Amino acid sequence: MEPTPHVLILPFPAQGHVKPMLTLATLLSHAGLRVTFATSQAVLDPLLRHLHLPSFTAAFPSLRFAPLPDGFPTRATTNRHNPSLSQLLAEAFAVTANVTPRLFRELLADLFEKEGEAPTCVVADGIMSFAIEAAGEFGIPVVAFRTYGATSTWVYFHLQTLIDQGLIPFQQGEMDRPIRCIPGLEDIIRLRDLPGFCRQRNSDEGAMLQFFLDQTSAMRKASALILNTFNELEPGPVAQLGSIFPRVYTLGPLQALSKQIIPNSDSDGSLWKKDRACMTWLDRQQPNSVLYVSFGSFLTLTRDQRLEIWHGVVDSGKPFMWVARAGSILYESASDDNIPDELLIATRDRGLVVEWVPQEEVLAHRAVGGFLTHCGWNSTLESVSAGVGMIGWPGLADQQVNSRCVEEIWKVGIDVKDTCDRRTVESAVRRLMEGGDQGMAARVAELRRSAVRSVEAGGSSHCNLMKLIEDVSKMSS
Ligand code: UDP
Repeated sequence: MEPTPHVLILPFPAQGHVKPMLTLATLLSHAGLRVTFATSQAVLDPLLRHLHLPSFTAAFPSLRFAPLPDGFPTRATTNRHNPSLSQLLAEAFAVTANVTPRLFRELLADLFEKEGEAPTCVVADGIMSFAIEAAGEFGIPVVAFRTYGATSTWVYFHLQTLIDQGLIPFQQGEMDRPIRCIPGLEDIIRLRDLPGFCRQRNSDEGAMLQFFLDQTSAMRKASALILNTFNELEPGPVAQLGSIFPRVYTLGPLQALSKQIIPNSDSDGSLWKKDRACMTWLDRQQPNSVLYVSFGSFLTLTRDQRLEIWHGVVDSGKPFMWVARAGSILYESASDDNIPDELLIATRDRGLVVEWVPQEEVLAHRAVGGFLTHCGWNSTLESVSAGVGMIGWPGLADQQVNSRCVEEIWKVGIDVKDTCDRRTVESAVRRLMEGGDQGMAARVAELRRSAVRSVEAGGSSHCNLMKLIEDVSKMSS
């Protein structure tokens, strides 16, 4: 008898990875496949706390969760007092490289021992490439899900070439030097647009570069690649990646695809409680008047960075909603929290500071007219999907590339990377939101329509999902 298709999904345990991979898990389960979603206990606990489990289980009875007790560090679990971002990431990558692989092998062995439980395919995060070797030991294929965009994924495939050509590490004075060795992106990507760890400012960044080199090289052995993007957004890099992988499934924007196929699903995999009161505040604002400010689930700002951005936002005169996640400011001393009165008064009069919001609903609200973002891939895609122009202030990893795409390739926003002064922020907010750039507004609307078409029946991402389900189902025969 043929085994039932059973997909084991393994995300990297962070918000930006868990969310799209859980959405894929629900889509596969909805299509009738069995799915096991395995992730670190440290992330599974908050994930399950914020899912409405009774309705989730009723909607997706063939989906279950498997905890991996790997001690993965999060800001909430680490013993270190307020570690820097690169320290925390270096610790997280060390766990992923040294502890999680053993637990994943044990999980596979356990499932293979139980009658009828053996997975027939693994969908592993593109930065959990150890899964390819581990699953190979059990004779099952691995599809890599790289939760970044196609452009940044294509850039990551050239990190070794950049090192070989002596371009990494680079000095402050060379930042605007264009890069010519990434096919299709010649003269678009400059050294300053490469992932932050290419700057090699400390040993943690060195470890991160090595981690990504290893992961990207190992990922080549996957049987296919899944990306949360749509063909029409990144046609060149998607085609280029087709020269590395036998098959590339672009399924994005995944949240929009999920809403199309499972309209009532409320399972976006949030790790924090969403403050819904912010929607009432938005209801009271004028159309297209509000600047939404968020730097995602991981990035931290120093006190000075926060103050400069805050001044810039306030000086623009626009109403604003700012997500200030707990732990998102890196404090250097106890006196760090002296906020100038002018900022507090302006924020009371026309701002709203919240801990965590239903971001996609916020972006879709008619009052929101611009997004000041760190350009994490999910946020970037959600903004494209909602038709909201962006100001990119990227911090790490793929964010630098994404922010460049926003300004230089898609022309749907302004890239202010490597600047953090109030005048730059103020003038970017005014330029984005005062309607002076008609070309940008037209591009924002055009990309939104293109995103909508890609998830409709017959659209590129919709068709790719059907093909993925068909191909994954065949892996059991
Ligand atoms: N997000 C959210 N509420 C917030 C802030 C962020 O739901 O208040 C979600 C956002 O919609 C996105 C994810 O968190 O899907 C952040 O992922 P992204 O790739 O943008 O950045 P990361 O957190 O990985 O840096």
